[in-house]
Amino acid sequence: FQREIIQSEKLAVVGQLAAATAHEIRNPLTSIKGFLQLINQRLQGNDREDEITQYTTIMVEEVDRMEKIIRDFLLMTKPSDVMREEACLNGVIERVLVLIENQAILRNIEVSTDLTPLSSVHMHKEAIQQVVLNLMQNALEAMNIGGTLSIRTGEEPEYVWVCVHDTGCGMTEEEVANLGSPFYSTKTEGTGLGLTVSMKIIREHRGRFDVVSEKGVGTTITVRLPKQ
Ligand code: ADP
Ligand code: MG
Repeated sequence: FQREIIQSEKLAVVGQLAAATAHEIRNPLTSIKGFLQLINQRLQGNDREDEITQYTTIMVEEVDRMEKIIRDFLLMTKPSDVMREEACLNGVIERVLVLIENQAILRNIEVSTDLTPLSSVHMHKEAIQQVVLNLMQNALEAMNIGGTLSIRTGEEPEYVWVCVHDTGCGMTEEEVANLGSPFYSTKTEGTGLGLTVSMKIIREHRGRFDVVSEKGVGTTITVRLPKQ
């Protein structure tokens, strides 16, 4: 027991250092990206423009990717227990639906919603919005082209819930067990931090996170937030 406590204290210190490091890496990344864009501009009209912009474009994309990893990572290290307010989960979901609408159209995915009127609950709105966005983003990515994304909400005596269902690639039992492990991703462009952050946020809200998935059929993830 004693050892566990020491271990988690060590982890907390490492976590703080990692967060500080991630934060500090951001500034040089921003300047690298800026200079790459400047190089692109200066190359205009140069006889090797095509060849060199091909390289600098890849470099900008890679910097974007590093920025994405850092953004997700820093979200994970932020405490989400401050800034809570009474809010309705449906409102948060409607905002996210607007954000993903275009992507769904581009991927030819039908979005079906069934939002039941809900009691307001105590939540960090931005953090919960991030969770819902991560879930819908994963659902869209699991389907790639075609399929149905269904969003339902409902209420139980102790919880309000949102259920995100997709008809995508689904997961094996082992893959489901991996969900939430930092950096676990099966995507070439994935950070593997989306669900780590999401589960942490839900845990901090004393909520529940349930996954049901079948390989080749689809996935349903239900998030519950306590009313009290
Ligand atoms: P990322 O999306 O960057 O890969 P996440 O933490 O959001 O990271 O998800 C981790 C992994 O979990 C994904 O790479 C994918 O393999 C799996 N996953 C998550 N959501 C779904 C889903 N709806 N359907 C199938 N697999 C999923
Ligand atoms: Mg994701």
